[in-house]
Amino acid sequence: MIDNTNKKNKRVKRTIILSIILILIILIFLFLAYGCYKDLAEVILNVSGKKESIYFRVKEFQNQIHYGSRGFATPHTITIYDRNRVVIASLKDKDYQFISIQQVPVFLIDLLLIKEDMTFFTHKGIVPRRIFVSLLKNIRYGRNAFGGSTITQQVSKLLFTDQKKTVTRKVKEIITAFYIEKILTKEEILEIYINIAYFGYGRYGVSKASEFYFNKKVQQLNFAEAAMLVSIISSPERFSPLKNKDVTKEKFKVLMNRAKKVEYIDAKTADNLSQNYVDTYDFTKLGVSSYLQIEDKSPWVQSYVLSWINSNYSIKQAFESDFEIYTTTDSYAQFALQDSANYYVSQIIPSRVNDPADENNLEIASVSVNPLTGEILSFIGGKKYSPLNEFNRAFSSRRQVGSIIKPVLYLYAFLNNIVNPLTVVEDKPLSIETSTGKWEPKNYGQQYNGPIPIFRALQKSLNSVMVQVAMKMDLNDFLDWFNDVFPFIDKKSQEALKPYPSIALGSFEFSLLDIASIYCPIANLGTSVKPYLIEKVMSHGNIIYQNNVEKIYDSIDKTLDLELIYLLGLTSADGGTSNFAKRQTGFSYPVYSKTGTTNNGKDSWFVGFTDGLLTVVWTGYEKDTGKTALTGGGFSAYLYYIYTQKIYPFFAEDYKFVDENGSIVPICETTLLKANENCPKIYLFLPYIHQPSEYCASH
Ligand SMILES: [Zn+2]
Repeated sequence: MIDNTNKKNKRVKRTIILSIILILIILIFLFLAYGCYKDLAEVILNVSGKKESIYFRVKEFQNQIHYGSRGFATPHTITIYDRNRVVIASLKDKDYQFISIQQVPVFLIDLLLIKEDMTFFTHKGIVPRRIFVSLLKNIRYGRNAFGGSTITQQVSKLLFTDQKKTVTRKVKEIITAFYIEKILTKEEILEIYINIAYFGYGRYGVSKASEFYFNKKVQQLNFAEAAMLVSIISSPERFSPLKNKDVTKEKFKVLMNRAKKVEYIDAKTADNLSQNYVDTYDFTKLGVSSYLQIEDKSPWVQSYVLSWINSNYSIKQAFESDFEIYTTTDSYAQFALQDSANYYVSQIIPSRVNDPADENNLEIASVSVNPLTGEILSFIGGKKYSPLNEFNRAFSSRRQVGSIIKPVLYLYAFLNNIVNPLTVVEDKPLSIETSTGKWEPKNYGQQYNGPIPIFRALQKSLNSVMVQVAMKMDLNDFLDWFNDVFPFIDKKSQEALKPYPSIALGSFEFSLLDIASIYCPIANLGTSVKPYLIEKVMSHGNIIYQNNVEKIYDSIDKTLDLELIYLLGLTSADGGTSNFAKRQTGFSYPVYSKTGTTNNGKDSWFVGFTDGLLTVVWTGYEKDTGKTALTGGGFSAYLYYIYTQKIYPFFAEDYKFVDENGSIVPICETTLLKANENCPKIYLFLPYIHQPSEYCASH
């Protein structure tokens, strides 16, 4: 009896509870239907039967990203200008680019379907079972979050909803997905999806994502890179390798396991990639170089500016304040340098090295400066900019300078009356006792000329003569003078200078920028100036940063400097170290230059200048020494001449060699006295104090 009554009671209770639940469900449905009513009307109005209306939404979506509206924050930009206010780059913190699905690697699409929607090609926009499972999960965990959306639903959500996680939004998304499937083909839906999916850091679509994460076009992505992008798609910033590599690795592994399970890739590939890929990929560069526009024509400048921002402010701050960065670079000179470098690397270098391994081992760098102002007009940090080759060798790499330093020592010797251009020194093998043992500096090719005047020794860059001149100097005094006259070289470079005789042959390491700052006062007749590239930074009309031009006037005697410059004009003339390269390249302007060759043959330097334009070029082996020994005249000189030929008329002017304390005089080659009509003669600019008083009597 009692049992029966209990059972009856239970049944009644159950019926009541079920009825209540049923009533609740009906109420909820009515409530939702009412809530969706307006939205539904909009969906039907917008989507019904028209492809254009969907693509109009895609366009609208793009505008929202670019101009900020409907839930999108206003986009910010970093703009980089050249010296003529030409925009070098306009970087956006949000970016979007629609590309055809044909441009996307098939494996990226496959992985995307494996990750997001395995039954994409067979379902009708929604998979009821998935919605039901997701609904149950929501009820169980009490969260208002929906997973398990099909790709069509995601397209629907991004284009037609406010993307807030509400029940009405979900209902709208489902109904719209249903409509979209009726209007678009599967391929069209997929194409829209890969173009609007968010990949973090303001990047929408696979095209901008590839640029951001890999600095590549999407067509160039390899399998692992595509997998990395797909694996973080559900919450790109949370799973991004910039935040936490371990999380990325975990997500990557999940995708690989799924791809393995559906037999898309074999177990070995899946396990190998899961184990290694995320670890081996260098994500440290992201955050700075990832904002580079890969289509950009001045990647070295862009990259330098971004790292400068990153170390002085932050990329985030620069975007938030819409930084406008005014640089000293000249786009025309920059393109000319890059073009010339491409030609040098693809045509000249291969013709001058004996071994393909040498060719790969060689790197280059160059920087052009206006010597009077210190403005950097152009530079390249390596052969070709890429994410794998973005180290800026022009500013950051220090290399042995070799003979390129000799003019500085001769200048000091002239200033201190140690020698003058007509002083004769015996060019011979040397053996010098030093505190660390015997030092035997050799001439290039171990050739010696016997007695030779300084102007020829400099023209031919003879080591023996240079060392003998340096031995006559007090090297501590020389270094004191050096630090006074060239204060703008890097402190670390400066500290490396020690008063050893070997500094006369450039046994120490400087950067190209150091060399440029040393040659500035030589080229501009006496004003030391610090080279710089960032002129000023503006934000919404305010000056955030303004470069202080650092200058020291009259640091070198003008007359003696002109004397040195004239001699440096001889290096490209008959008998000079860069004469061959000049003739080969058909260079047709006056130029003053010095080649630099290091003892180990690892470095080739060239510095060339005229009034208004100073360029330093370096070519060198990255690792070890190559089979081909490098010389300044055999390598870097070529790039200098090819490049300068293109821009000379716009920037450079020849010197006048007019000075109250000196003049150009003909000198007899044999007696080194003032030449008469019959003498074999050479013209030199000499201060009156260095001019011979007598005429040659031998001719
Ligand atoms: Zn003579």
